[in-house]
Amino acid sequence: MKHLFTMLLVLSIAPGLLAREDDNTFTRAVGQWQVTLLTEGQHEGRAAILVGATREMLATIPNGTFPGATNAFLARSGDLIVLIDTGYGKRLFDHLQALGVSPAEIDVVLLTHMHGDHIGGMIRDGEKAFPNARVYLPRQEHDYWMQQHGNAARMIELYREQLHLFLPGEARDGGTPLLPGIRGISAFGHTPGHCTYLLESRGERLLVWGDLAHAMAIQMPYPAVAVTYDVDPARAVTSREAILSFVTREKIPVAGMHVAYPGIGRVEEVSPGSYRFIPATQQGE
Ligand SMILES: [Zn+2]
Repeated sequence: MKHLFTMLLVLSIAPGLLAREDDNTFTRAVGQWQVTLLTEGQHEGRAAILVGATREMLATIPNGTFPGATNAFLARSGDLIVLIDTGYGKRLFDHLQALGVSPAEIDVVLLTHMHGDHIGGMIRDGEKAFPNARVYLPRQEHDYWMQQHGNAARMIELYREQLHLFLPGEARDGGTPLLPGIRGISAFGHTPGHCTYLLESRGERLLVWGDLAHAMAIQMPYPAVAVTYDVDPARAVTSREAILSFVTREKIPVAGMHVAYPGIGRVEEVSPGSYRFIPATQQGE
């Protein structure tokens, strides 16, 4: 009875707090890397952003919505602290503080692309949030956003002296080596220089795939569905198909910036060209 009363009290006071307490925290080892989810929050995506979804495909998602999130990831190995994307920069700094990491201690920032939900944390109160980091950015992404003269270009100018521009390689060639245990692999299309990062250590791997998919519930079974945010939807589809084929063939776990909690898992090919994502929390890990 007392238990029931407590439950009703919780329900009436704070329905928003009923989500699992650990919904924002998840760490997975990849050899010597400790990879930690830094989420800005979970959300329900809307079918309106999907391009090329048939009525039959949409019937597979209830209410025309699908679970999503906005994530960044922290990868630590020995003394090296690497941040992969920076979210909106809203909850990012609280997460870092909770992990005992000060922004000045970040050695490397790897940017998958320059949309606001990925570079939002780069500037804090008008200043560089990561004054001591080397910032890796695909050259194609740099060139595209410099022509747009917006927030991304301003961020580039602020970090100019810390920027390391590179050309991401193809998955089939193993990508472009950037640092020990980190390679850049192209997934162009979502934006012109959209890039994924492959972490490797002691025979274990994890592909942090940025925005390879925004609507996992639709784009895993149907990778040919694009989203309205894609700069070049056809190329985004080709990249998605190539990366999905790569990670399933090589059995590489993945982490995604719009994959709902825990943001990390593995992909299985269910039938030719059609996939299923299994969250790391459902793998008994
Ligand atoms: Zn995004």
